[in-house]
Amino acid sequence: TGAFLSVRDLHVSFRTEDGAVGAVNGLSFDLDRGRTLGIVGESGSGKSVTNLTILGLHNPMFTTIDGEIVLDGQELVTARESELEKLRGNKVAMIFQDPLTALSPYYTVGRQIAEPFMKHTGASKKAAWERAVEMLGKVGIPNPKERAKDYPHQFSGGMRQRAMIAMALVCDPDLLIADEPTTALDVTVQAQILDLLKDLQQEFGSAIIFITHDLGVIADMADDIMVMYAGEAVERGTVEEVLRSPQHPYTWGLLNSMPRLDSDLGTQLAPIPGAPPSLLNPPSGCRFHPRCTFQREVGGTRCVDVSPLLPPGRGGACHLTAEQKQTIFIEQIKPR
Ligand code: SF4
Ligand code: MG
Repeated sequence: TGAFLSVRDLHVSFRTEDGAVGAVNGLSFDLDRGRTLGIVGESGSGKSVTNLTILGLHNPMFTTIDGEIVLDGQELVTARESELEKLRGNKVAMIFQDPLTALSPYYTVGRQIAEPFMKHTGASKKAAWERAVEMLGKVGIPNPKERAKDYPHQFSGGMRQRAMIAMALVCDPDLLIADEPTTALDVTVQAQILDLLKDLQQEFGSAIIFITHDLGVIADMADDIMVMYAGEAVERGTVEEVLRSPQHPYTWGLLNSMPRLDSDLGTQLAPIPGAPPSLLNPPSGCRFHPRCTFQREVGGTRCVDVSPLLPPGRGGACHLTAEQKQTIFIEQIKPR
């Protein structure tokens, strides 16, 4: 396809002492420039593994990767480490939940933003420093000329997050991967950071993959959603489609566990009972079946025996008929 990022039938498994863990199982998706794809799922759903795979950050000794990842025409699964190294921080950048995983305590913030810029663009030290100061200003650090000389510990948590975003964006990446970037921040700072990311996307036109377990954040940030469960995509569509008429019982559960602002009773959380399965020995058939309360509607043992396919484009990987999904969602899920 012509998508800027195209992932096809991706399988990632890790060799562990207990056996092979199939962390990602047959994942396909596309992403275009200027768009934001929200990947939502619990921890262990494969959302972070997928993105570390795009960045080529797994230890090849313990990891088997099959399938295709094509970024702007370049195949990444078979790319050499030196080629991936060139991509990281330049064409593809990442921001994490914890800025201290990206920022070193030993160097000034300005230097840490200037360095990738020098490395990837060949700019002079002075030009790179000026660029770092400019980027700190763009991400809303007051008095950036002075603050660039500070060390990370002299910044607040929110400011460190901004500094990490400045570092990620300094080379104007085409693809930005944000993995739970605001989870550790208080609500006000979180909202500021999300607004900042939206503004910067407008300015830089990057494609963004936004990983979170929070559908509320996704609703605010993303154009498209992919819901992952136990290493597989179980639903995808535009934000409107997925939030208005979700097609998969797991998505219903996620929606049900979202705080509702319109409820008189305040926050009512109905988490999905049970826990995600072990990927050492994943459930047969539909991987969600041990937690799903709708198998009777499907009938027989189909949910246990047959793995439901996710259709290309809009849809959910579930054996329920379109009519059943509609009825169940409207009658049992939506009007809580
Ligand atoms: Fe539930 Fe069956 Fe649909 Fe899986 S296929 S989500 S077990 S109804
Ligand atoms: Mg994660």
